[in-house]
Amino acid sequence: MILFENTRLISFAPPAVSAPLDLVAWEPGEDEGQPGKIAAIGKELAKRFPGAGKTGAGGYLSPGLVCAHNHLYSALSRGIGVPIKPSKDFVQVLQHLWWRLDRAIDLPILKASALAGGAEALCAGVTSVVDHHAGPSAIDGSLSVLENAFEELGLRGILCYETSDRNGKEGMKAGIRENLRFAAEVDRSRAAGRGILVEAAIGAHAGFTLGPESMELLGEAVNSSGRGIHIHLAEDRFDPAQSHSSYGKDLMARLEEVGALNEKSIIAHGLWLSREEVELMNERGAYLAHNARSNMNNAVGYNDLLHNHRKVVLGTDGMGSDMLEEFKFAVFRHRESQGPWWPGDFLACLDRGNRLLENYFGGSFGRLETGAAADLVHWDYDPPTPLEAGNVAGHLAFGLSSRSVRSVVVNGRLRIKDKKPLFDLEAIGAEARTQARRLWKTMEGIA
Ligand SMILES: [Zn+2]
Repeated sequence: MILFENTRLISFAPPAVSAPLDLVAWEPGEDEGQPGKIAAIGKELAKRFPGAGKTGAGGYLSPGLVCAHNHLYSALSRGIGVPIKPSKDFVQVLQHLWWRLDRAIDLPILKASALAGGAEALCAGVTSVVDHHAGPSAIDGSLSVLENAFEELGLRGILCYETSDRNGKEGMKAGIRENLRFAAEVDRSRAAGRGILVEAAIGAHAGFTLGPESMELLGEAVNSSGRGIHIHLAEDRFDPAQSHSSYGKDLMARLEEVGALNEKSIIAHGLWLSREEVELMNERGAYLAHNARSNMNNAVGYNDLLHNHRKVVLGTDGMGSDMLEEFKFAVFRHRESQGPWWPGDFLACLDRGNRLLENYFGGSFGRLETGAAADLVHWDYDPPTPLEAGNVAGHLAFGLSSRSVRSVVVNGRLRIKDKKPLFDLEAIGAEARTQARRLWKTMEGIA
């Protein structure tokens, strides 16, 4: 067992800050209690649990942060040393950069980028990453490579492979197959009673690279696996325009027709969805993953209907995994748009990533209470103003940052202790730089 003493507990939904308390969690593999869960919260717990290892004291303890849309395969693109033609629009950004990069990914490159991106997530207090993977030259087994990296780091996640027609019919079918293979693997682990750290979704690239047959197969995969679709929709104006011109219908209608909209659906971006499509998502309980920084960087516009969505979650879309940084961008870009939301509304979005985890894993996430998942961050935060229930969101928007992360626990297992990662961060970085050079070299040969 691990014990935090005399620490103030920060809750995100509803926002709250407690008086100093102790918290005890079960570690994975313990015979008694509920491994990976919070065992008790109260006063003087060292007396009640004399065997618990003292893990930290003072400061603040909060639930771990969730990144609800990411692409760890892009972790080795930072400062990319490959000539990239200037792009006039979003589709050219995909053609000139991302579709060249993902074709150059083999399994060693994927492993290095997953470890590097996942390690950075943990260092930023992010305990769960919802990933959307692409790598058409190495599809089979790719989700297991990612899973191994998550397990090695002790990071929680939901994985999928982005099915797409852009690499031909065989490529599309290989994508569906990999999603179903991995979901079945997770099901077998669950049936065998093994604790799982990684769940599966059904991945799809975007409406404009998926024809009717692919949509049909995705709908079948969603329903046979009992998972949700994880797809980019209406990231750019081109996506709905292509849907209307090629199929005479809205993007969301295409998902609805194949039965792919449910309460596990993750729709990334959605900037150019209509009011009717937002309404349909709300009725089906689908999540909208908002990626403020990525939208700004790709100049695709702003989601003016954001506040009409019932279930907004926040993601980075591959721009690192620092969710406090992402939270700030989401708040400030919204303020600039003169929208109706305030930091507290975005805090609810940040917290909602935990509801997504609950939909996939079951159990209770993002709550500091007995029996909830022990995914925790211990913060070294000494604010210049009082931190109380009414201003938690204000402290996140204007103060708290990942440099205050002191210790990180995922599933009851310490991953960072007193600012020291309990995984080999140096070796991960060195291998990532080696693989990045190889990735860039391969990209040079891809038009
Ligand atoms: Zn994305």
